[in-house]
Formats: sequence, structure tokens, C-alpha cells
Amino acid sequence: MHIVQTVTEVRRIRRSLSGTWGLVPTMGYLHEGHLSLVRRARGENDFVAASIFVNPTQFGPNEDLAAYPRDLPRDLRLLAEAGVDLVWAPPTEEVYPPGFQTYVMVEEVTKPLEGAARPGHFRGVATIVAKLFNVFQPDRAYFGQKDAQQVVVIKQMARDLDFPLEIVVCPTVREPDGLAMSSRNAYLTPEQRAAAPVLYRALSAARAAWLAGEHDGERLRQIMAGVLAAESLARVEYVSAADPTTLAELGDASHGVLLSMAVRIGRARLIDNLLLP
Ligand code: AMP
Repeated sequence: MHIVQTVTEVRRIRRSLSGTWGLVPTMGYLHEGHLSLVRRARGENDFVAASIFVNPTQFGPNEDLAAYPRDLPRDLRLLAEAGVDLVWAPPTEEVYPPGFQTYVMVEEVTKPLEGAARPGHFRGVATIVAKLFNVFQPDRAYFGQKDAQQVVVIKQMARDLDFPLEIVVCPTVREPDGLAMSSRNAYLTPEQRAAAPVLYRALSAARAAWLAGEHDGERLRQIMAGVLAAESLARVEYVSAADPTTLAELGDASHGVLLSMAVRIGRARLIDNLLLP
């Protein structure tokens, strides 16, 4: 496994190994969710690359950039075991050198949900992912359904900017009690960790209602809010029953719906979603 820091080295290795390439972008502190993306990429490409970069431009001024968990030696061991060929773990100045001033802004689909709660977040995400696509020139790039709006934003950007690659979306990997795996789960105390499956319980309650014929968007939002309200450690930022393509809140959810939420538990801000049908 090649482990490199500079764009020049990535390009040199990329050119020297001809065949199809899959790319898995990450912020590190890897878990089974990340590794499921790597395994999918391993099965579908001749070569697999991963990036490990805690991207400062996608964090707001009062967010957890400095505290974000990191363990590069462990990440590199896991990626090597998973059969990754190339890892890019750049220092911040390699990605954003002094004088950097070009950003990618995706418009409508970045306005609601995470975009409303975290101003500037998707400008940072779209910019780093566009740079990763330019540097690696992968045939396929792998993203988790866990970050549902991120998938919508990146697909939109790839279409609009003519990136010649396939975006592959992989299912959310969960703990046995339903909690979606996330590097940020490391912030939870044991008591908070015990409360955290409430997100998946709320989503599951709305899914059960939808499958039983409840297709009123407002009712689905109420069902999720009701389950979350019963957990005293959970502070709800939003609950949503939105159109899976436009991300606009739905009245009539009969044709399909993206159920999603952001909830603070302790100092962790947790997000989760289910896509129906
Ligand atoms: P992150 O390191 O949190 O930026 O995540 C890197 C990639 O892994 C993103 O495409 C995420 O959507 C994906 N990912 C994170 N958690 C999960 C999970 N529990 N299941 C599947 N994919 C995930």
C-alpha cells in the first residue's frame, strides 16, 4: 500500500498503475461503515484509493474541527488489511496552500436540512470532493447513504461539472442496536451512548407508519419528533420527511420519502436517515 502526502505523488502512482480505480474519501477514524465502502470498491475496481483528510472548510467556526477524533496509524493498518492500494493523507497546506481562493457552490439542494443547520458546510464538501476527483481521476467514487444530503449534493456537482465517473452509494452500516456508525459516536459517554439508538427508533417508527399507509409528511415528522421527545438526553435540531431528489419537505409522501434528522446528544451532533421505499 502506497501512503503519500502530496498531489504529485498521488498522480505519479495513479499513472503508473493502469486499470480502473475506485476512490473512498474519508475523514479518518475509520469504522465498519468506511470499510464497507472500501470492500465494495475493492470488488468493483482494479485498484482502490482512499483519502484521509479532516477537511477544515466543511466545519463551521463553532464546530468540532479541533476535537475531531484522529488515529492515523490505526486507519492505515485497517486500510492495508482491506487491500487498499493508495492512501492520500495530506497536511492541510497541501490541500489549501496560502492564497487558495476557489470554491465549488452547489445551489438549491444545499439550502435545506444540513445546509440550513451548518452554513458553508456543503461549500467545503463540494470543494474538497471536486479536488479529490481532479487529483485521483477515479472511475468510481464511493459514498455512504448515512450522509444522504451529501450524496445528493455530490451527484449534482458531478453532473453539473461533467466529472466522468460513477458515484456509488453504499448502505448505512449500524451497530447491533441500530445506531448508525460514525466517528462522532466516540464523543458519547456510556449514558449518552445508551440513549443514541433513539434516532433509529424514531426513523423506524416513521417507516413502519409509512409501510402501513401513513403517507402524510407532517404526520411522519410528528411520529419521529414524538419518539425523540421521550428521550431526555436528545436535543432535536430538525426532523424531516423530504422529497429524495429535491429535499423539499413533503406534504404527500406517497411516492417515496427521505426521512432524516439531526439530534444533539451531549457534545455529539448525530445525523441519520432512511430512504423509502
Ligand atoms: P466521514 O469520514 O464521516 O466523512 O465518512 C466518509 C464516508 O463514509 C462518507 O461517504 C460517509 O457517508 C461514509 N460513512 C460514514 N459512516 C457510515 C456508515 N455508518 N455506513 C456507511 N457509510 C458511512
